[in-house]
Amino acid sequence: MNVYDSHRIAAILETLGFSAATSPKSADLVIFNTCHIREKAAEKVFSDLGRLNLIREERAAEGKDTIIGIVGCVVQAEDEEIAKRAPFVDFATGPLTYHRLPEILQKLSRKKETPIIDTEFPAESKFDFLPQNSSMGGSSFLAIQEGCNNFCTYCVVPYTRGIETSRPVDDILKEAQVLVDGGSVEINLLGQNVNSYHGEDSNGKERNLAFLLQHLAQIKGLERIRYTTSYPADIDDDLIACHRDIPHLMPYLHLPVQSGSNTILKAMNRRHTREEYLEKIAKLKNARKDLQFSSDFIVGFPGETDADFAATLDIVRQVKFCQAFSFKYSRRAGTPAALMPNQVEESIKKTRLEELQKLLFSYQLKFNKESIGKIMPVLFDIKGRHKGELIGRTPYMQNVHAELSKDYCNKIVNIKITDANVNSLSGTKEGKE
Ligand code: SAH
Ligand code: SF4
Repeated sequence: MNVYDSHRIAAILETLGFSAATSPKSADLVIFNTCHIREKAAEKVFSDLGRLNLIREERAAEGKDTIIGIVGCVVQAEDEEIAKRAPFVDFATGPLTYHRLPEILQKLSRKKETPIIDTEFPAESKFDFLPQNSSMGGSSFLAIQEGCNNFCTYCVVPYTRGIETSRPVDDILKEAQVLVDGGSVEINLLGQNVNSYHGEDSNGKERNLAFLLQHLAQIKGLERIRYTTSYPADIDDDLIACHRDIPHLMPYLHLPVQSGSNTILKAMNRRHTREEYLEKIAKLKNARKDLQFSSDFIVGFPGETDADFAATLDIVRQVKFCQAFSFKYSRRAGTPAALMPNQVEESIKKTRLEELQKLLFSYQLKFNKESIGKIMPVLFDIKGRHKGELIGRTPYMQNVHAELSKDYCNKIVNIKITDANVNSLSGTKEGKE
């Protein structure tokens, strides 16, 4: 979501005459787009800001002005902290108000004493004020839903991105067409809780994600559709049927379970039990046999016992996730879990995370190794570090490195997989160049 927001912010700045700088030293304006989900991510902003302030001083000695701004969830949650710890910042605006950047920059050009801080939850939707979205290359992001009403007890999102809102169906379909016209063959629909999408169609009727997917699948030239992140309890039969009926829908679904223990899931206020999660997985798998899953995990949630953690390891063994993101529980001020008794010791969190990751990586490696010898359609969209190398992704989001002419960038190419490790595959193009 932050990559998407940064892309949209860059588009606003282009309308104001800015273009991308090659380094902070050559930039007249630097904006940090921030994440507040875990403490480490939030703290990083303050050290980065300090470093940038030094660059600003060097530039000032050369007679150059630098504007420094912060956007995103850290602003929403820590506006007072920003004013205290980084008073040199010129402006700070939350994730729902960055469409106001033109006004903010205009205000700044008039007066520059105190930072302009905007943390309002606006009545208007920023999407109605942003310049038209543009293709990011072969694969683009498209935000369809924002905010969250789930209030998992560890999570800041409902407080930083606000309550759940869905964009209208027609706006999304039009934007998707623009992205495809601009060269995207893959669209990744985004939302904090994307499968609870309930946008209005042109007759004012509420439509679900399945409806949207069926219409997107009709766009000519759009070959791959993905959506992320889904909430397990909101996977309904309509959506499961889409995985059966829409070949464009990639056979990879990110479906975070967080924990395998029902006690912990309850304390987390997740609206699913371990059994319900496994049942959803089975139904999805039944609808599309080649579907694979990835997940998010939190270890060391308050009160997590050895038995609870063992239940998490066990669910990993059952589902055999092909990829996963796993984190130590991070205590976030303002969330209910931060005040829970039985906070887990840091050393235990560390050991559990290592054990979980070892298991997750073993399944990931096994899955990647099974790709060797297969011919897979790979969407290439990044230049590799070596000359003549492109990096792309298989339908299962595995990174593939291949020696290929840059003419294949942003295209889907059949690649014979020749090698695999835990994080990536490599291969060669099938057939003649
Ligand atoms: N809406 C998505 C996730 C959004 S946040 C969902 O419900 O699955 C992305 C991930 O960050 C979460 O899935 C969770 O695993 C992790 N996360 C969120 N808050 C956290 C916290 N306080 N400590 C550790 N990990 C956290
Ligand atoms: Fe956070 Fe996701 Fe839970 Fe919403 S559903 S509160 S975004 S973890």
